[in-house]
Amino acid sequence: MSTLRFHAIKESLANKPVLVEEKERRSDLFGKNVFDENTMRQYLTKDAFVGVMNAIQFGKKIDRNIADQVSSSMKDWALSKGVTHYTHWFQPLTGTTAEKHDAFFETVGNGMAIEKFGGSQLVQQEPDASSFPNGGIRNTFEARGYTAWDPTSPAFIYGTTLCIPTIFVAYTGEALDYKTPLLRALNAVDNAATDVCKYFDKNVKKVTSSLGWEQEYFLIDKMLAASRPDILLTGRTLLGHSSAKGQQLDDHYFGSIPNRALNFMRELETECMLLGIPVKTRHNEVAPNQFELAPIFEEANLAVDHNSLLMDIMGRIASKHNFKVLFHEKPFAGINGSGKHNNWSLSTDTGVNLLSPGKTPMSNLQFLTFFINTIKAVHENEELLRACIASASNDHRLGANEAPPAIISVFIGQQLTKVLEELEGVTKGKLSPEEKTELKLNVVGKIPDVLLDNTDRNRTSPFAFTGNKFEFRAVGSLANCGNPMTVLNTIVAKQLIDFKKEVDLLIDKKGLKKDEAVFNVLREYIKATKAILFEGNGYGKAWEEEAKKRGLSNNKSTPEALKAKISKKTIALFEDMNVMSKIESHSRYEIEMEAYIMHIQIEGRVLGDIARNHIVPTAVKYQNMLIENVKGLKEIFGEKFKNVSKEQISLIEEISGHIEGINANVTKMTDARRKANTIENIEEKALAYCNEVKPLFDDIRKHCDKLELLVDDEIWPLTKYRELLFTR
Ligand code: ADP
Ligand code: MG
Repeated sequence: MSTLRFHAIKESLANKPVLVEEKERRSDLFGKNVFDENTMRQYLTKDAFVGVMNAIQFGKKIDRNIADQVSSSMKDWALSKGVTHYTHWFQPLTGTTAEKHDAFFETVGNGMAIEKFGGSQLVQQEPDASSFPNGGIRNTFEARGYTAWDPTSPAFIYGTTLCIPTIFVAYTGEALDYKTPLLRALNAVDNAATDVCKYFDKNVKKVTSSLGWEQEYFLIDKMLAASRPDILLTGRTLLGHSSAKGQQLDDHYFGSIPNRALNFMRELETECMLLGIPVKTRHNEVAPNQFELAPIFEEANLAVDHNSLLMDIMGRIASKHNFKVLFHEKPFAGINGSGKHNNWSLSTDTGVNLLSPGKTPMSNLQFLTFFINTIKAVHENEELLRACIASASNDHRLGANEAPPAIISVFIGQQLTKVLEELEGVTKGKLSPEEKTELKLNVVGKIPDVLLDNTDRNRTSPFAFTGNKFEFRAVGSLANCGNPMTVLNTIVAKQLIDFKKEVDLLIDKKGLKKDEAVFNVLREYIKATKAILFEGNGYGKAWEEEAKKRGLSNNKSTPEALKAKISKKTIALFEDMNVMSKIESHSRYEIEMEAYIMHIQIEGRVLGDIARNHIVPTAVKYQNMLIENVKGLKEIFGEKFKNVSKEQISLIEEISGHIEGINANVTKMTDARRKANTIENIEEKALAYCNEVKPLFDDIRKHCDKLELLVDDEIWPLTKYRELLFTR
């Protein structure tokens, strides 16, 4: 083993952790560092409290006077907890979080200073926005954008900073972040769903979209990770032969969590408790050193913020425990990658989960309405759903041989499939009283019993119904959930509006009763959406062929997939729903295409460097050792040396072949990159990176990985898979 690798592993193993005790009950810690409803009750005047609650619940504007009161109380609360700075906390289109800290401290003349935090500072801030991606909305010389307080996500303290969740918009009004369109989408789905709920319950005033994400990740020893330039710069390994033992034995999944990882998790979870992130579940995942963390679901905007915050603090806490967290969707070839299931549902302010069957036929009809409308929304917009989870890193899962496929389909399970079949047979138009009774008692009424034994679990489906929620499983582990949540809620909002129009028409024009009209429209939807329902194996070749016949899209790469973001249909959808303007849709498309190009470009550079400057010199060195050896054998054995050194000579040849292979392909890749860089059109450029540059990665890697098996372990420069994955 090389000295570098040896010392890295030695260091890592020297770290012999004992389990850290948890002194406080978690429920006692929960939300302690959050300016939440309880804290607001303590700190705010009644007027201010009511003002903020109205903003949270009904989107009412907060006036200046109230903002002053809130900021002053927030400051008092923060100072009481040792806070010195505040920041607007936002999520620019880089996908990560951004912050710029300002001290409360201010001078007031005469050498005096005070701690100040006014309403205007709470409500608005102006970071220099020129270096954030904006997709051509602004030129740098007019780089003015501002952040504005989002009262629906509570302020929190991290370290000694008060963080205020904000949206980030250009002065011309366009969104420059993930949160702004999400809030607009949540508003759209609230309005549309509330209107539909009124068919079933007049008391419903608000519908909330919920999200429960499940974050998968790898934990790798920090020293070992730092020894790999590819992990350091791209978040994944670009080469490395698979370890003799990987995940074949299934001995990691749900296994006991190693102490060192557990200590990290405990500290992380404690921090999550303080920040009000309701983390609940943790377990080992399928691949070695892979884990999952899941909270209790929350209102979607808050859940998205919490996921972004979590990813940020995970990195920091991991570092304290000498770990590096890998969020990349495919950090290692040959073993499972990571995803982030987005569990989604809608619920009313009367406490009803609209995707959960109820106790009465009427509430079940309501369930069916939302259930079938969601299926219809996915059916109409499958290509857009695929687009909203597209990224260079997620391409390694979707469309590669891993869960789930790039084809979007919906899994609903046997029992609900049967219910839909029965509903499809319902008479068109008016129903006889007998038919109605039969329908209500024996079809709709039976759903809860039917679902009780809904044990179907299809792990290969990208969008599955799991009893009381839909699970969007194709979201990448590295993704900001804001993007998929914006799309999902927007398409459902649009669908519910269309549905209501159709039902109202049947009631007004055809004189149907409300439930008859609902049945009629749902029946047509069931007929129209069959192509999107799929219960079989999503990974198989057979499904690809079948999906093609059904007319479903199968966009395997990001450049292909992203096109759906700027189709006429998508632009009209986002405009109609007031979620994004045409300019915003286009700018996002450009930013994401640009990001794709940059990622592949960086990976290409790193791979070229490692292959040429680390692997080839090592291979040459080893080959020279072999050559020396053969020369020596010749000296001793004379002409007979050929008999004793046959293998060595062929090894020398084999190594030459791989060195040739690497050099030739790196040259080819560099040329392909150069050529791609001259392309002006962003779509063509991205496609060139995808189809001309990226495939060469595999060719280069193949030779490097073969050499790893041939070359002396003592001089191999890169930390190996077995060391990265099994050092604990
Ligand atoms: P799995 O079996 O897929 O691991 P779980 O049943 O443990 O899933 O739930 C995973 C996530 O789904 C959790 O974050 C949980 O809070 C969330 N979840 C449960 N019910 C709902 C719901 N009605 N809406 C949204 N998310 C939900
Ligand atoms: Mg799940």
